[in-house]
Amino acid sequence: MIISANLKTNFTRKQTSEYITELDAFLSENGISQDVLVFPTASALDRFEAKVEVGVQNAYATVNGAFTGEIGLEQIEEFGIKTILIGHSERRHILGETQEVIAEKFNFYKELGFKIVYCVGEPKDIREAGKDTMMEYISKQYDGIDTTYENLIIAYEPVWAIGTGLVPTLEDIKDIHSELKTKSKAPLLYGGSVKANNAKDILGVENVDGVLVGSAALKIDDFKSMITDAQNLNKEDR
Ligand code: PEP
Repeated sequence: MIISANLKTNFTRKQTSEYITELDAFLSENGISQDVLVFPTASALDRFEAKVEVGVQNAYATVNGAFTGEIGLEQIEEFGIKTILIGHSERRHILGETQEVIAEKFNFYKELGFKIVYCVGEPKDIREAGKDTMMEYISKQYDGIDTTYENLIIAYEPVWAIGTGLVPTLEDIKDIHSELKTKSKAPLLYGGSVKANNAKDILGVENVDGVLVGSAALKIDDFKSMITDAQNLNKEDR
């Protein structure tokens, strides 16, 4: 399974380095065979010699150039990073990234062979408008995206569940994941208020191949506990 942490705009460079070092020791000491991904804030990126896979939370579709406030391939390559998060709801809804911009970014990093964790998910009003409206909305988030890309991971993250403590029912997660699996066979993560006390149940749902965790991952012991849950479930071996 794939257990990933989006650290967002949290932790200093030193805190991030300590976090990754501690996590890495945990993976080795416990013989963890799951894929563990961490997305630190851009200023804390480094060349981490770790089993933990480090990715960027965002980057512009460029090698370099005049794009104030952005980072591009040149800055990412410096650290040997080949993993990127694209389409996160905070970038869509707070920073105003359109599907067109997101698809451009996707295609740029796809051409470079990056592992892409691509996020989709609906806001509350769309959810409340019913399943057809919801699936139609999510479908549009696949526009311009190569759903057969071999290095693709999709994260289903309902916007209303992110950082709110609200989580869809396990039945709902199962239902949506089974629909999304018809759109792409890529591993499919669930994200949105995954915590140490619900990760095991969510990871156990059919067609959930892992989780993308925000706030709860900031507490390293909680994140370790989710990794242990995934290891114990070991779905692939069942
Ligand atoms: C996220 O931002 O990707 C996320 C899942 O956040 P949280 O776990 O805090 O809901």
